[in-house]
Amino acid sequence: MCGIFGYIGTENAVKTCIEGLKQLAYRGYDSSGIAGIRKGQLVSIKAEGKIVNLEKKIQLKDLELAPIIGHTRWATHGIASENNAHPHIDSKETLAVVHNGIIDNFDSLRTFLKQKNISFRSETDTEVISQLIAYHYEGNLTVALNKTLSLLKGSFAIAIIHKDFPNQIIAASRESPLAIGYNHTKKERLISSDPNAFLGRNLNVFYLRNDEIAVINRQKIEVLDAHLSPIIKKTEKFNSTLTFPTKEGYEHFMLKEIFEQPNTIQKAMLGHYSENFGTAIFDNLNFSNQELMATRHILIIACGTSWHAGSIGASMLEDMARISTQAEIASELRFKNPIISDNTLVIAISQSGETADTIAAVREAKAKGAKILGIVNAQNTTLTRESDSCLFLKAGPEISVCSTKAFTSQITVLALFALYMARLRHMSKEDGKAFLDELKKIPDVVTEVLQRHEQIQSLAKKYSTFHDFFFLGRRYMHTTSLEAALKLKEISYLNANGYPAGEIKHGPIALISPKLPVIAFCANHQTYDKILGNLMEVKSRGAPILAFAPYGAHEVQEIADDVFWLPPTIDELATYPSSIAAQLLAYYIAKEKGTEIDQPRNLAKSVTVQ
Ligand code: GLU
Repeated sequence: MCGIFGYIGTENAVKTCIEGLKQLAYRGYDSSGIAGIRKGQLVSIKAEGKIVNLEKKIQLKDLELAPIIGHTRWATHGIASENNAHPHIDSKETLAVVHNGIIDNFDSLRTFLKQKNISFRSETDTEVISQLIAYHYEGNLTVALNKTLSLLKGSFAIAIIHKDFPNQIIAASRESPLAIGYNHTKKERLISSDPNAFLGRNLNVFYLRNDEIAVINRQKIEVLDAHLSPIIKKTEKFNSTLTFPTKEGYEHFMLKEIFEQPNTIQKAMLGHYSENFGTAIFDNLNFSNQELMATRHILIIACGTSWHAGSIGASMLEDMARISTQAEIASELRFKNPIISDNTLVIAISQSGETADTIAAVREAKAKGAKILGIVNAQNTTLTRESDSCLFLKAGPEISVCSTKAFTSQITVLALFALYMARLRHMSKEDGKAFLDELKKIPDVVTEVLQRHEQIQSLAKKYSTFHDFFFLGRRYMHTTSLEAALKLKEISYLNANGYPAGEIKHGPIALISPKLPVIAFCANHQTYDKILGNLMEVKSRGAPILAFAPYGAHEVQEIADDVFWLPPTIDELATYPSSIAAQLLAYYIAKEKGTEIDQPRNLAKSVTVQ
């Protein structure tokens, strides 16, 4: 789940590589490292932790390296130490490898190499790649790499430098993205896990496909297929934008992004509805109304927060458009042999568009003939390229690892899509207009919650003394409770379980005690009476209760220890005010705990391994 960057060109290679890695830090920040060739020798510098640690080490040296490869890591195999940081060098110190992905059969390959008296320096799966290439190398690096690739099982994007080829980077990939960019005028060659990290350059770009090898040097770039025959790649012009997002006075990106939501929700809606017709408008939807009307089943694929948004979208599609819809966790779906018929539409949701599990599930679904509708925030991503049509969130870069504004924008796009499907089928214009009226009020509803952030801050102070939590809700509030619990887990490292409130009596209620508070989401009118009963059950067993409830829900006040009042909306949209309140609660509890809120331990913004 890491970022790979490589550079050959006229600019300072070390500086360029570090800047590139910073753009890729959303893919992991456990360690980073660079390797290059200097006076015929391999030079490598690595550091544990964030890229700034690597920068500090490099500043101590006057370093000129060309070519250069770099890596920012999210550890899968081996702890997040300097020793396990990439690049990985073979035991003869002839070559260096950076790798994104997982080598599934690394254990047997390692045993094989150890039997050949090759010793290992790290615990990573990656090191088998560098050792295997060196083992097979007899003067032809491409052949050695190709032999190695044929032995590897799993997913990878790799870049390699070898001291016998001091002007060259060689790269290969299978299932993991790798973009290669070049411009003729400056004779620059860049490689990256993500073309958006091409540092504001305007380049000709292409992507390596499975088992292709690129041999990159200043004179030319040659691409070979798995039989080592040269192939011509189709390139596209790509203008990357160099962004340096700032916190704009907020203490953390997360807080800034929470407060951006009235605006980002508005942006997700802008130009996408018609008040006159009471429906949504999607100019760039590459599916005809006939195709959409023929849809009998929708399968939503996503992970983490996007899966929560997808689950809410699934409920809206079933409630409003009466289409059977299932939201599946991508990493599970892949191994379920999903039933995809001619009239199944697959919706894949990923903020970054690079979530490896989601992309792998999309590829499985495509192989079964499914059409894919992507819902993505970032532009020019692997998911965008894999989808038949894409709806963009337009929420701007989300920097905080803990997703907030992307979640509410995903719900907005899904709400509009559900409205569109409903109006194509049976929903009346009047009902469509009524739904739109409610949706248009949401930015104000959200603003109202944000204005009372200080009240949530003092509740956070009180509840931050606990170690374990239950987050409960029913119907739309069930998924809302899952998302709220995930926020707290991610940034405060406290144990928070999201659960359907009606289900706790079937087991989890055994955990309830005065030491385990219940955070209750009560904003679903349809199930309001039922959740009151569930709250009585936990109150009878001593649980402290903090409830998020709509104004006027006085029965809740009788039961709960604390209530945060929410502005009213319809059930389908009740996630907005409840989630914003829960985001603030998680943020302020994490602040009490003093955790690293924007880049919590063990996480990465985009999960690019399966
Ligand atoms: N599996 C490799 C490691 O643990 C690479 C992980 C990644 O893609 O960040 O070092």
